[in-house]
Amino acid sequence: MLVKDKVAIVTGGARGIGKEIALAFAREGADICICDVEEKSLEEAVRELKSLGREAIGLRVDVTNLSQVEEMVQKVLDKFSKIDILINNAGITRDNLLLRMKEQEWDAVLNVNLKGTFNCTKTVSKIMVKQRSGRIVSIASIIGLIGNAGQSNYAASKGGIISFTKSVAKELASRNINVNAIAPGFIKTDMTAKLSRELQEKMLKMIPLNRFGETSDVANVALFLSSELSNYITGHVVKIDGGMVM
Ligand code: NDP
Repeated sequence: MLVKDKVAIVTGGARGIGKEIALAFAREGADICICDVEEKSLEEAVRELKSLGREAIGLRVDVTNLSQVEEMVQKVLDKFSKIDILINNAGITRDNLLLRMKEQEWDAVLNVNLKGTFNCTKTVSKIMVKQRSGRIVSIASIIGLIGNAGQSNYAASKGGIISFTKSVAKELASRNINVNAIAPGFIKTDMTAKLSRELQEKMLKMIPLNRFGETSDVANVALFLSSELSNYITGHVVKIDGGMVM
């Protein structure tokens, strides 16, 4: 088992990629805390995690709120006494062309995607520094590498996650904490289901492997980056995009 008896926090873990990561970690022996803003899907996800025979808690936490994040970390410590892995996955889109973009659309995306990553990383890394070990993996996006018309807020937040990851990797390396990012391309989730069929067909033509990604494609890499198989990897950005960006 790749993460046997490890304790992992997965933000935005009630649905989509986050839920798949949490399930993959539980199958590989980890105890899990998932947090999300939506109570009902949180409860369902916790039931599924427990059915795999591991401990799981689901907490209603908005990652943009530092004091809620601090409370979550304390609850995880109270229950599990340690935190080995943090997956910064919670993310949103509010797409618009720059000239039409409202201030609220900019702020919402930067707050959840980038400030949420800061809040969780800062709070959890305090614990990991004391433990002298830890793994932090943040879900960025290939849009953070190449940009996209209509997504300047999302691209800025994901590009920010990538440079944040590299800086924090340098700060925490001496404490045996590896910090990496994943940049998915087009993964089949509720987030991408909202896109028009026309846009989906256009995107498929740009993917050499000729299929959209599955949430398990991302979970497998998150697992690798959280396990001992990647001990000598830090500050890295792994693209999971079927070859879309080379
Ligand atoms: P989903 O929308 O399916 O899941 C995101 C989860 O994050 C939801 O459960 C959502 O809750 C939760 N969330 C949103 N805001 C907050 C918040 N403030 N605090 C806590 N949780 C929150 O998205 P995906 O699974 O598709 O995406 C997961 C991550 O992967 C995101 O960071 C996304 O940007 C990234 N990504 C996804 C790609 C894709 O193709 N799907 C491609 C590249 C990157 P709620 O249900 O209430 O909205």
